[in-house]
Amino acid sequence: MKKPIDATATNPLPPEPNLKRAERLLLELLAIPGVSGQEGAVAGFVTDRLRRAGAPKGAIESDQAHRRSPSGGEVGTLVCRLDGTRRGPRRLLMAHMDTVPLCAGAKAVVRGRQIVPAAKDTALGADDRSGVAVVLGTALEILERGLPHPPLSFFFTVEEELGLLGMQHAKVGMLGHPRLAFNFDGGPHESLVIGATGDYRLVIDIEGIAAHAGCHPECGASAITIASLAIASLHAEGWLGRIEKDGRTGTSNVGVIEGGGATNVVTPRVRVRVRAEARSHDPAFRKRIVRVIEKAFRAAAKEVRTDEGESGRVGVQSSLDYESFVLGDDEPCVLAAEAAIRAIGGNPVREISNGGLDANWMTALAAPTVTLGAGQYNAHTVQEVMDLAEFRQACRVALRLATATEA
Ligand SMILES: [Zn+2]
Repeated sequence: MKKPIDATATNPLPPEPNLKRAERLLLELLAIPGVSGQEGAVAGFVTDRLRRAGAPKGAIESDQAHRRSPSGGEVGTLVCRLDGTRRGPRRLLMAHMDTVPLCAGAKAVVRGRQIVPAAKDTALGADDRSGVAVVLGTALEILERGLPHPPLSFFFTVEEELGLLGMQHAKVGMLGHPRLAFNFDGGPHESLVIGATGDYRLVIDIEGIAAHAGCHPECGASAITIASLAIASLHAEGWLGRIEKDGRTGTSNVGVIEGGGATNVVTPRVRVRVRAEARSHDPAFRKRIVRVIEKAFRAAAKEVRTDEGESGRVGVQSSLDYESFVLGDDEPCVLAAEAAIRAIGGNPVREISNGGLDANWMTALAAPTVTLGAGQYNAHTVQEVMDLAEFRQACRVALRLATATEA
């Protein structure tokens, strides 16, 4: 017999999800094609299920992330916001709707405790339909069963596999200002990704002026000299290696210098590749580092001239793929996730990812975000599989988090 839920208690009875339904939902989601930029059918499915479960009018909103993304795309990101039946900080659960190109044409089959691709030449798409199934399934449980919950946002992103373009261009204002955010995009339910590397790259092309180094060196402007002056000044002023300025810290590194062909030519072309990082996820400081580096190269180019006063030129391409981040030891989303994992018998393990996740942009733009497992393994390969036992545990963790009954 089911015990009634006391909505006034601080820690109501944690609900058990309908796992059979969650698995059906997962198989339905795996059957929908949707590589990056073509998430329209997945978004349609998610919207339809939320509406049928009774999501109130106006709760579902989508943005124009695909219009802002340099990659284009069919649809933007999608959110379903629910007011809380109980007070408390808003919680957000999220997953990405797109899959990698290797998933095109994939058919999923259940084999024992796993779901595998039917053909040998495709991946499965469990990355990240497993996460979508966990998040959508949780929303449906809450809507259909009328479970008590704090304010909630269920968030579905696009173009994650294109360097996090969807999340980067998402309209985070529509998320309802979540305080705790949980991203389902991983394997074992016990692993929590609490940080990930960031990526800001600078490619600096220096165009000098070639001349015969023996007969007419004064007619040349050496690209190597320009690069050297710039690097020397950055070094002298403390902008290379470990950087500490005005209480802010970061790092930068000139990683690759390519150029030069002969000792008898004043070098006309050099390419310098630089990586810039700001620690303690401080995007403004990273921008400052990048600006200083650009300026140093442009100033150096002006300094190196031919006898006729002609100087070299510098072209800079800088691209921020995503910010690095590390969540604090006692970040509420991390503690809540750990409590939920322990409550179902698991041993949570904190990890740092070497790749980017939607959590990188979420943490920079909206709320500290921990990334949790959803049962996917060997993503982006033809060996991709879905572990159903891990998936079920992820569904349990998600429902506890969404109903704030994790402890
Ligand atoms: Zn993924």
